This record gives sequence, C-alpha cells and structure tokens, in this order.
Amino acid sequence: MTPLSNALSRRLDDPRLFRQYAYVNGQWTHGEGGREEAVLDPATQDTIGHIPLLEAHQITAAVDAAEVAFAQWRLLRADERCERLLAWYDLIQQNREDLARIMTFEQGKPLPDARGEVEYGASFVRWFAEEGKRTYGDTIPSHIPNASLGTLKEPVGIAAMITPWNFPLAMITRKAAAALAAGCPVIVKPANETPFSALALAELAERAGIPAGIFNVVLGEPAEVSKILCSEPRIRALSFTGSTRVGRLLIEQSAGTVKRLSLELGGNAPFIVGPDMDPKEAALAAVAAKFQTAGQDCLAANRILVHESIVEAFVAAFAERMAALTVGNGFDGEVDLGPLIHRQAVEKAAAIVDDAISRGATLVAGDQSRAPGPNFFMPVLLTNVTPTMKVWREENFAPVAGITAYSSDDEVIAMANDTEYGLAAYIYTHDIRRIWKLMRALEYGMVSVNSVKMTGPPVPFGGVKQSGLGREGGATGIDEYLETKYYCLGAL
Ligand code: NAD
Repeated sequence: MTPLSNALSRRLDDPRLFRQYAYVNGQWTHGEGGREEAVLDPATQDTIGHIPLLEAHQITAAVDAAEVAFAQWRLLRADERCERLLAWYDLIQQNREDLARIMTFEQGKPLPDARGEVEYGASFVRWFAEEGKRTYGDTIPSHIPNASLGTLKEPVGIAAMITPWNFPLAMITRKAAAALAAGCPVIVKPANETPFSALALAELAERAGIPAGIFNVVLGEPAEVSKILCSEPRIRALSFTGSTRVGRLLIEQSAGTVKRLSLELGGNAPFIVGPDMDPKEAALAAVAAKFQTAGQDCLAANRILVHESIVEAFVAAFAERMAALTVGNGFDGEVDLGPLIHRQAVEKAAAIVDDAISRGATLVAGDQSRAPGPNFFMPVLLTNVTPTMKVWREENFAPVAGITAYSSDDEVIAMANDTEYGLAAYIYTHDIRRIWKLMRALEYGMVSVNSVKMTGPPVPFGGVKQSGLGREGGATGIDEYLETKYYCLGAL
C-alpha cells in the first residue's frame, strides 16, 4: 500500500505511518461497498485523507480474526506478551515526532501538546506490558473439608474499544495495552475525525510483532459499527470513551449480549479555590486546567468556584493570564490553543455563551471577531455564572470558563456536586481541614488538590454518576479485561 502523497505524508519522516485503510487480521483493508469519508484538518478544513466505511460483514470478519488469534495470544506466557508490548512502546517512542504530526493534522492540537500525548499514551503501553505479569489469583482458606480453594485470572475475551477524537492516541493505548497484556485481542473503532493516529498505531503494532487478528482497527459509520460490536456475542468486553449520550446508547445496545462495560464518559469539573489561596497562583492553575486542548478535555475545569473574599482579584488575574493565550494553527510556533474539532463545536460554544449572557452572566473577555478561522474559538471568561445556565449544566468542551463566587465550604460542596457528572474535581487551598472535608464530600472519581496534573499510568482514571463505569490505568486498569475463575479442588 502506497500512501497518497499529500500534505500530511510529506510532513512525515516515515510516510508509511499514514494509512488510509482499515486494519483487519493483519491486512490493510478497503471498504467493499465503495463508501468512504473525508478526514479534514480542523485548522484549515483541507482534506487530509480518506477512510473507508466498512460493510457489516467486514466488521464481523474482524471478530472472526480476533477469535482465531485469541486462541494463541492467550496461551503466550505473560513475559512473551510483555516483550511484544515493549517493542510496540519502543516503536511509538522512536516515531514520536511523526505520530505527533499526524495528531496535529487531524486533531488540531498544538504540536508540543501532541508530543506530550504521544509520551502519555506510550507510558500506558510500558506500564501494562509489565502489569500483565502480575495478574495474580488468590488462595482462599477453605471452609470445605479436604478442599483447596482459589481463583485464577483469565482474559475476558475479545475486547472492542470505541474512542474519541480529543485524545486520538492515548485513549487507544490506555485501553488496548491493558487488554493485550491481559491476553485479549482488541478491535478498535476510532472517531472518524481522527482515524490516522489509530492506523499509525496499527502499523507500529504490526512492526512490533503483535500477530494478525490481535490488534484490529475498524472504520465505518459510527452507529452502524457500534450496533454490530454491541450485539456480537463473541465480543466479551466493550470499552468506550466519549460522551454520556453515546455511553447510554451503548449500555442499551449491549444488554442483549451482557458484556463487560467500561465507560469513560463526560465530565464537568469544579475547580474550587479556598479563601486562603493567593488568587494569582490559583488563577494560573485554573487557566491551565481549563484551556488544555482548547477546552476539549473531559478534565477541563468548567465551573470555577472562588471564595467571595478573593473573587475580584482572582477574576483579574485569570483574565490577564487568559489574554496572553495565543490561538492558531497547531503547527505554528508557540500557539496555546488550536482549533475546535469542527464547525458544530464552535456553534455549540457560541450558543452556550449566548445562553449564559441572556441569563445574566457577565462576559469579561472573549472577542470572537479575533478568531483566526471558522473553526477557532477565542477563550471566553464569564462571571456571575449560575446553575440555571447551560455553561454550568452542560459539558461545554470548548474554551469557555465560568466563574461563580461562594461564601462557605458547605455551599461550595453543594455547588460542586450539582451536576449529573462525577469525573474529576480540583481543590486549591492549603488548609488541611478544608482539604479533607471537601475531598470526602465531593462526588467525583478523581480529586486533585493543588495540582493541575493528576493522571498517568499508575493511577486509576474514571468517574462516578453519569461519568461512567470502571477505571483505566493503575493496578485496577487491567482488571477490566480479566475474569475471575473460582476453583474448588475437592478430595483428589
Ligand atoms: P462521542 O460520544 O460523540 O464519540 C465517541 C466515539 O463514539 C467516537 O468513536 C464516535 O465515532 C462514536 N459514536 C458517535 N456517535 C455514535 C453512536 N450514535 N453510536 C455509537 N458510537 C458513536 O464523543 P466525542 O465527541 O468524540 O468526545 C467527546 C466526549 O468524550 C466528551 O463528552 C468527553 O468528556 C468524553 N471524554 C471522556 C474521557 C474520559 O476519560 N472520561 C476522555 C476523553 C473524552
């Protein structure tokens, strides 16, 4: 397969990483019905490539291939699977620059951020390569005379993964590395907006010696593909990262085949600033926590809750820092924010801002006439945000920050929990009593105190309430792909 020579492939040191096919059973695969979809550079809206939309029988062929390959993969020793995963890790690292360029092309994020995501994504491959060696069972003191009791950990079976466009590489490795290390074959359906990162990972998996049928990438019309994956009884686990809306659909569609579900859904993170904080220090952290990936981040600090005694100084410091952020094409030098993923995202952001203003919020900054193109959205700061506004209730997934003042710890706890989401929360204070009080009262899967950075391979990532089920990363991440088999050995 020769990649089409275009702007993307010409930017790569190794153009073979740019693939415009699906990858099934170790083969680069065309769509047999002739359907395809263009992939656009969100910054310029130029077409950067095309992907085939597979037919139903081609998706089923991926399941057939995974079923055959599973029989061998599960029998490899854990250290043999570890070797293949470490080879994959090395290749991802060696090709870091090309992977980052592919990501900036299709996702739009600034190149340094894309490099960071490659590092982050690769780190899960290394972590789970080793973690696969530690899938221990238990020995259980027996309550049955003359019997030996215990548990074995076994791979759950074929695992399907449906991933989003905001982190097109890391959301795949965080799932796939755990599944592969556990002994499961995987079928990945990436977002159609960002398929090329997934396909480059497939190319590197093949080079790393991961056998045909073990790592598959299927492409197609999302609702069509997911129906097939969900209703296929041979697929035993489904891991999804994306919106709560689609997560709910997948729960319904999987009911008939009773799958293991792991769902990393939306977030609407509160960022709580205590009265003891230096407002400037807290504002710098809040800007960092809000505007990463142009706000298209499930951990984005959407609802910034600041004690009334420092809110004025905080707003001034936040606005000053925000004004220094640069917006532009992710390939252009020192850009802080790239474009939003598509025009609908820009329209949604504008509607959320309009709704807030119409309900009494104050627009402190955010002049959209300065946006460098149709898919760009200038950072917005709103104050006097209240719970009736969409900017409070919905995950805005855009560079729109809303600030609200509060007067007591009890009030801010109620405000922070006033959402259907429960992914991540931030607390900024040095008061240890306040830290413990808030940390225990917040209904969130992850709480970060005085730190914007919170995720990584050794820690469990995931939410409560409508933010999802299960955890990725950490010692628990591999459990999503393991079954516990209990055994009772009676008198032999
Ligand atoms: P999305 O739900 O629209 O899409 C996610 C995936 O689902 C994509 O592969 C898409 O093609 C597919 N999909 C879309 N419609 C579908 C349908 N009807 N049936 C089946 N599959 C369908 O989400 P998105 O817009 O790609 O990503 C943004 C969302 O992802 C946000 O809500 C964000 O919070 C969430 N997210 C969560 C985490 C996390 O770890 N919790 C991480 C990143 C993103």
